[in-house]
Amino acid sequence: MKSLTKVTIISNLEVAPGAYVLSFPRSFEFVPGQVIGIAMNPADKPRLYSIASGNKENVVRILYTVKPEGKLTPDLARLHAGDTIYVSEPFGGFICDEQKAVWVATGTGIAPFSSMFYSGLGKNKTLIQGNRFANGLYFRDDFEKEMGPRYVPSCTREQVAGVYHGRVLKYLSEKKDLDLSVKYYLCGSAEMVVDVRDLLIERGMPFENVVAEIFF
Ligand SMILES: Cc1cc2nc3c(=O)[nH]c(=O)nc-3n(C[C@H](O)[C@H](O)[C@H](O)COP(=O)(O)OP(=O)(O)OC[C@H]3O[C@@H](n4cnc5c(N)ncnc54)[C@H](O)[C@@H]3O)c2cc1C
Repeated sequence: MKSLTKVTIISNLEVAPGAYVLSFPRSFEFVPGQVIGIAMNPADKPRLYSIASGNKENVVRILYTVKPEGKLTPDLARLHAGDTIYVSEPFGGFICDEQKAVWVATGTGIAPFSSMFYSGLGKNKTLIQGNRFANGLYFRDDFEKEMGPRYVPSCTREQVAGVYHGRVLKYLSEKKDLDLSVKYYLCGSAEMVVDVRDLLIERGMPFENVVAEIFF
């Protein structure tokens, strides 16, 4: 991991039960889709987080959920504006160009796509976003407004008007007209990424057109 720099938190807001958006001033360039390491102290082993904000914004935003037994996230959730954390320089290769493509995300796996979206890369993309409950469809209002029918929200544990009921895997497996000529970018749990990748490959998608990032 690259060296860590101290930054001062601007805000740390709970956006859904156990899910937070933390922001701090941007002092580096990054490519949407990249990650940074975050630690409470310089000696701690940093955890990785995708940047969720656009690459021209003055602030960097991180979307995270609290793992109750985790080392970092319970402490992170207790921080307020004015507190400090340590962050690494951005790195990572989960990046996307302006070509037409499909983005598939579950949970906090939406973060790299929200960075791409807020950086202006959402114009010819389809976004399929899943979570258990509709309040975990982070940034949904902005996606809906900008992407219209190219945005597909889905949740598994509740039925909500305008939201597909079921897993993103089920949505894709029911779709008869999957566009196999474009790249699919997948981000979220290992289970979702592996299942969706397998489905796409079974349907005839070339392996190299499936680009994935697993949050573990
Ligand atoms: C490329 C990448 C990008 C990521 N981006 C994001 C993001 O944008 N947002 C986000 O929320 N997360 C993201 N993550 C996950 C993030 O890095 C952390 O893993 C997560 O936030 C948990 O951190 P923690 O320190 O609180 O928990 P950890 O201390 O890492 O623990 C996580 C879980 O593992 C269990 N555990 C820990 N140690 C052990 C052990 N020895 N044996 C058994 N179980 C154990 C804990 O009980 C806990 O439930 C990303 C991960 C990767 C790899």
